[in-house]
Amino acid sequence: MSLAHHPSEELLLDFAAGRLEHGPALVLKAHLGACPDCRGETARLEAVGGVLMAALPAAPRADDALARALARIEAPERPDLRAPIEVGLPELLAGERLGPRRWLAPGLWLRRLEPEGRSRFNTYLLHTSPGRRLPRHGHQGAEYVCVLEGAFSDATGRYGAGDFACGDEELVHEPLAEAGEACLCLISTQGRLRMHSLIGRVLQPVAGV
Ligand SMILES: [Zn+2]
Repeated sequence: MSLAHHPSEELLLDFAAGRLEHGPALVLKAHLGACPDCRGETARLEAVGGVLMAALPAAPRADDALARALARIEAPERPDLRAPIEVGLPELLAGERLGPRRWLAPGLWLRRLEPEGRSRFNTYLLHTSPGRRLPRHGHQGAEYVCVLEGAFSDATGRYGAGDFACGDEELVHEPLAEAGEACLCLISTQGRLRMHSLIGRVLQPVAGV
């Protein structure tokens, strides 16, 4: 079954070019693991990028060092997007340092990924029991979400397993986990959440997001 919600082409391009910070890139990778369409699109964008690079006027010999430096930037870090990406959680989070599970309320917990260096993004797994609604909140910047298990909905739509949700500082929402199955999401949020409810403000110091 094809997915309902996908990242923008601009975001895929940033990913292909290695311009995304680690947290958002990880969320995008989770989606790519579940979405052959976006994998194909990312590979296409990467190929277009390669053609554009090749079409640049040849650097004079004196600029050889620059060309070699550029090649080094381009080459090693790029994931091989034509290879199938394992979507399984252990594979996706292999090598990540996961913090302790923080219990927030019955059926509601999160686990932060410890960033390697300074990061503008908080990245975490959020588990929500079936039928639970999250406190109403806004954002200081971009928010990227990939649903790993279950489903949730908010005013912008319904998001099932594999779907990619993208928000910004305009988005204020209170996501509701669908009945039946717990919802597990990988989330990367720029800055802190803006809590719009008392319960949210009470939970925020515990959650640390
Ligand atoms: Zn997709």
